[in-house]
Amino acid sequence: MGESIILKVVEALAGENGRRIVEALLNSQGGKSDEELSQELNLRANDVRKLLYELSKQGFVAYTRMTKSDSRWYNYYWYTDMDMLRQSISRRMDEVIRVLNERLTYEASQTFYMCPNDLSRYTFDEAFENNFRCIQCGSELIEVDNSRTVRYLRSLIEALSSIRRV
Ligand SMILES: [Zn+2]
Repeated sequence: MGESIILKVVEALAGENGRRIVEALLNSQGGKSDEELSQELNLRANDVRKLLYELSKQGFVAYTRMTKSDSRWYNYYWYTDMDMLRQSISRRMDEVIRVLNERLTYEASQTFYMCPNDLSRYTFDEAFENNFRCIQCGSELIEVDNSRTVRYLRSLIEALSSIRRV
C-alpha cells in the first residue's frame, strides 16, 4: 500500500485533521509533542489531544514518554511511520474482508424468501416452518433472487483484497 492510499484511509477513518496530524508526524524526526502539532497545524491543543487519542486507538500513532529534566512531569512525543500505518490498516481490512466473506457464505449458501407486502425476509427454514406464509401478515412468501447481493459482495471482497495486496 502506497502512502497516498494510506493517507486516504486515515482520512476516511480519522477525518481531515487526523490525516494532517499523521502527515505531520510522518515528516518529523523523533516525533512531536501535542503542543508542537497544535502550533504547526493551527489546531486547538485540546482537539489535537483528542485526535491523537483516537489515532492511537486505531494503531496509527504511538508515543514515547520523556521525563522533563527539572520536574516529575512527562513530555509525550508522538510518532508514526509507514510500517505502523500499513500494519494497522491491513489488520482493519482483514477484519472487514473476514466479515464480508462470512456474509457472502451466508448469502450464497441458502435460498431466501420475502413477503411482497411488508418486505420482511426469511431463510428457507423459517419460511418452511411457516408454510411459506409471512408471520406478520399471512401473505404468501416469494423466493428472493439474491444473486446481485452475492455478486456485489464478491466484487467488494475482490476490490478490498487487491488494495490490501498492493
Ligand atoms: Zn408480510
